[in-house]
Amino acid sequence: MKITEVEHLYTDRNGTFNPDIFDEKVIIYGCKNSGKHLYDRIQKAGGQVEAFVDRRAEEYEKTGFCGIKVIPPFKLNSYKTYSVIISFVFWPQIIEDIADDMKVYADYPFWEKSGSRCILCGCNETVSVRSGFVPFLQERMFLGNAPETDWVHCRNCEVSFSSYRPTEEEFGRLYSGYRGEEYSKQRKIYEPWYDNELLFGEEATEKRRRDAFAFCHDIIDHVPKAILDYGGDRGQYIPKEWDHSERYVYEVSGNAPIDGVKAIDNLENAMQFDWDLIMNCHVLEHVSDPGEIICNIRSLMNDHTLFYLELPCEFATGNMSVHEHINGFTKRTLQMIGEKYDLDVLKFGNLDCGGGIAAIYRRRTCGLIE
Ligand SMILES: [Zn+2]
Repeated sequence: MKITEVEHLYTDRNGTFNPDIFDEKVIIYGCKNSGKHLYDRIQKAGGQVEAFVDRRAEEYEKTGFCGIKVIPPFKLNSYKTYSVIISFVFWPQIIEDIADDMKVYADYPFWEKSGSRCILCGCNETVSVRSGFVPFLQERMFLGNAPETDWVHCRNCEVSFSSYRPTEEEFGRLYSGYRGEEYSKQRKIYEPWYDNELLFGEEATEKRRRDAFAFCHDIIDHVPKAILDYGGDRGQYIPKEWDHSERYVYEVSGNAPIDGVKAIDNLENAMQFDWDLIMNCHVLEHVSDPGEIICNIRSLMNDHTLFYLELPCEFATGNMSVHEHINGFTKRTLQMIGEKYDLDVLKFGNLDCGGGIAAIYRRRTCGLIE
């Protein structure tokens, strides 16, 4: 089944369900914020949900979610007569978990023509849906006074983005002490399932390094001499296989880099180097102007520099609140970035880990054939 074949969910602009759904037996795909949000709405409207399905079902083995059971995707074949409603930031990959003969709905938005300018490709081929910031951000980022926002979706480059672009000051409140103790405490008030260690602990970090290396090694078959991880926190995401490279991290947070990695805190200094590889991983989904970062990276590239870009693959849908990822990308966006910024796409595709996509680029050399 393809995304385009998934039926839209029968809600109107106010989120009222088409009552037909309640003649069906329903399972929600996805727990957490959006799963709970959808579950609450269905309950309120008098419907009944049998179970949740989630790729991380084992986390809910004992507790369930919202008081009901959570099953892993492979168990879906015991639920052939049920309808599945996909609740969340839509990872296009999950559709592969659902058998072709099952009825699938997505908690899609009630898209309206938008005409807003796309933040990435600049075209006006956009549609939008009303949204809002999650309660955690309402408190931490906006001090209880959050602005209204929509999800805007570009039909050209497939980027999704929050129409409200947070200010420097608002980002400052969100990211100062990011993932620290106070951050975790505040977030758990609204999202009790939030687990810093699971997402960013040593095991998760090691998995990210392995996935990045697995994606890169057929194109980057040598050990790069000088590597820059642009926005790479403490440099901990550079694959271990490149431990003997000169490793640098460009980071404005001021976090001390790990052993063996040197920090560069301004672009001018980064220009002085001849980079073999520039990495940019899981940054663009957080920033107000992703195009500016790509331009900056491009300005640091020579003809031989490779640029490894890694992002979550997300298709932001309606009835889904805006969280820290104010931008969502698909594989098509990776290709469009090449076109827009004059980069050759040497490789692009899915990473092994759930939800991630990546690409390797090189500066386009005016059509010269090697
Ligand atoms: Zn676009």
